[in-house]
Amino acid sequence: MWLWTATNFFPSRKRCCDQCCRRQLKVGGQEVTEYYHRGVVAHLIGFALPIVLDIEMIRPGEGEIVAARRLLGRLLERYERFFDAVEGDALYFESALFELCRKHRKHLLAVLKENNPALLADAKAVLAGEPDLVRQEKNGRTIRYWDREEFTSGAAAQPLRVVRTEEIWTHRERVAGKWIVREKTSNWFWGTTIPQDVMPPRQIAQAGHERWSIENRIFNDMGAHWGLDHCFHHDPAAILNFILILFIAHTLVACFHRLNMKDPVRGRFSLIAVATQILLGIVALSARDSAWRKGRAKPPP
Ligand SMILES: [Zn+2]
Repeated sequence: MWLWTATNFFPSRKRCCDQCCRRQLKVGGQEVTEYYHRGVVAHLIGFALPIVLDIEMIRPGEGEIVAARRLLGRLLERYERFFDAVEGDALYFESALFELCRKHRKHLLAVLKENNPALLADAKAVLAGEPDLVRQEKNGRTIRYWDREEFTSGAAAQPLRVVRTEEIWTHRERVAGKWIVREKTSNWFWGTTIPQDVMPPRQIAQAGHERWSIENRIFNDMGAHWGLDHCFHHDPAAILNFILILFIAHTLVACFHRLNMKDPVRGRFSLIAVATQILLGIVALSARDSAWRKGRAKPPP
């Protein structure tokens, strides 16, 4: 399965180009224009390795879904055999995308929210009462699952399955010098074409929550440690190339870290520590020691 997620790149109040998106911000009581690039990223989920497959930049004034459709078309052309389902947030819950996926025999999983009011109202009415499954998870959360097929209202051009979860956990916080423990509850609805006999509701919910983990693991990490917060040359082609090269570098180092390093060593080195060691190795390598700079060996006498 892979996931669409949209993200902003290189916000700036000084530099811009004809492919920049823009937004107005209030800074110190004054309105300023911020320029940024925005892209829809396709990311594999369900694997230990954080692998970005492709990115499609969103053009100025263009909707995220338009770029997502172009990205889906390209991935179907290039990697069709490698995935069975795609996932997106509530914005991606639209009949045209369900239809496109159905045409290519792929499943779609998307968060169901207020932008699909008819289907959400039906799901809230049907998915109530005794849950189909209750699980106590290792992280201390109690999760109740409801799971039904054959919903046909709203954006559903074909019968859809809807999974509801109610997650209950305790949150400890300090208020006025005292620790207070509160019980918290969150409700989630997911709509999908994945049948019940292919994926149980617990896996649907886990895949649905993967989006936040991706944002933390990839974009926040790459912004903080991998230079994804700095644009070296503000030009649309240079920006796209830089992002793609960075994703390739990140994937290669992650593969080495996960698949090549032995467990005891990997426990002592984070991913960015391994990348730093590789960088130091390149810096320390004398130019004359490089394999490509060595002359040919003399032929035997
Ligand atoms: Zn720009």
